[in-house]
Amino acid sequence: MAVRLVRGSVCLLGACRSWCQPAVRCSHSGVEARLESSSAKRFTDIGIRRIFSSEHDIFRESARKFFQEEVVPNHAEWEKAGEVSRELWEKAGKQGLLGVNIAERHGGIGGDLYSAAVVWEEQSYVNCSGPGFSLHSDIVMPYIANYGSEEQIKHFIPQMTAGKCIGAIAMTEPGAGSDLQGVRTNAKKDGSDWILNGSKVFITNGWLSDVVIVVAVTNREARSPAHGISLFLVENGMKGFIKGRKLHKMGLKAQDTAELFFEDVRLPASALLGEENKGFYYLMQELPQERLLIADLAVSACEFMFEETRNYVKQRKAFGKTVAHIQTVQHKLAELKTHICVTRAFVDSCLQLHETKHLDSASASMAKYWASELQNSVAYDCVQLHGGWGYMWEYPIAKAYVDARVQPIYGGTNEIMKELIARSIVRDQ
Ligand SMILES: Cc1cc2nc3c(=O)[nH]c(=O)nc-3n(C[C@H](O)[C@H](O)[C@H](O)COP(=O)(O)OP(=O)(O)OC[C@H]3O[C@@H](n4cnc5c(N)ncnc54)[C@H](O)[C@@H]3O)c2cc1C
Repeated sequence: MAVRLVRGSVCLLGACRSWCQPAVRCSHSGVEARLESSSAKRFTDIGIRRIFSSEHDIFRESARKFFQEEVVPNHAEWEKAGEVSRELWEKAGKQGLLGVNIAERHGGIGGDLYSAAVVWEEQSYVNCSGPGFSLHSDIVMPYIANYGSEEQIKHFIPQMTAGKCIGAIAMTEPGAGSDLQGVRTNAKKDGSDWILNGSKVFITNGWLSDVVIVVAVTNREARSPAHGISLFLVENGMKGFIKGRKLHKMGLKAQDTAELFFEDVRLPASALLGEENKGFYYLMQELPQERLLIADLAVSACEFMFEETRNYVKQRKAFGKTVAHIQTVQHKLAELKTHICVTRAFVDSCLQLHETKHLDSASASMAKYWASELQNSVAYDCVQLHGGWGYMWEYPIAKAYVDARVQPIYGGTNEIMKELIARSIVRDQ
């Protein structure tokens, strides 16, 4: 049964204003002491970190159970298939795990950002990257909820919350990734309709998608390319919308990353998302949340890898004692734990800022850049601490290692993150 967070009294700091029930003392009021990651027994313990409350803990327990029971046993099969089952999406919908941070009045669950983060983190803690839930719920759905017409919201959001309509977003093209203003996919007016042509690549959830937000040029004469880009809601089954290959990737093997083609797709005026030629502005508004999400996934993956490695070195023997008894190993674990805790503190503070709409783009970029780089160095060190077994697919750390590699690449590469951070440093005030 889905655990629904119940609205109630207002927290003193306001960060958890929606979810603290009168009967449950909110951790933000300082009444309920919560350990931070650095003092907790394990990074994955339930009931830690001051950004969360007891309500979130209950929700976390139910999300953890879902991932352990519904995802873990099937993930190896889905890795072979290159996609997860549609049934899983509907189960997640029934469990209240999709559209968690989308307002109830729009057809979402109506939870806060921290509740959405619980779902991201629990998926990382089971090391199962297959279901593209976070992209669907916290990247695609917000565009529709924030910029969609009443009709679009009514049509898509409840279905997406139920897991009956899977969402994707298509920005990247074979010739344009970092340079989004270089997209060539275009939509031309034909009466009140639009005719869409072009192709997209590397699209997460692309193969299973029922609705795709497509970034297209709508005005080539605009004073800059950014002023001539619009977003469209393209639905599976529309004539001329063709799904190409599911791409064969280094990692994220159970996630369906696909090519998409648009050949004279006739779109009604109602497929335009938001205003014509405002697409680039919408992307700039929404990308910080995507980057924060990647940062939280990254630090959660670090936490998972650390716990996995701690368990391994405590039972693996070499030279008559456990590997955990070797001082250089202990120092490596101390380094890893410190790096993870420092990063967790920054990412949690970004989550807090974002919950109150105060997270700026440069800070989100710092979080994404830093946490995803850390994820890769932690993955490297944790494989090393596993020795040869760390290179074997049957050991979860091997999967965590290959899954980490894409994190500095998508959501804007880390080189682009540095560009964005640097701009905010040298900009004249
Ligand atoms: C598994 C996976 C899933 C993805 N999911 C999606 C999705 O759902 N939707 C979507 O639209 N896209 C998705 N992407 C695409 C991803 O966002 C792009 O791959 C990424 O933005 C980089 O673009 P690119 O691959 O074209 O690299 P390029 O832009 O060609 O970059 C190549 C290299 O040049 C560097 N570079 C480029 N410009 C600069 C600059 N100005 N300064 C410094 N260095 C620079 C880059 O950092 C990179 O190292 C996904 C990619 C992968 C691998």
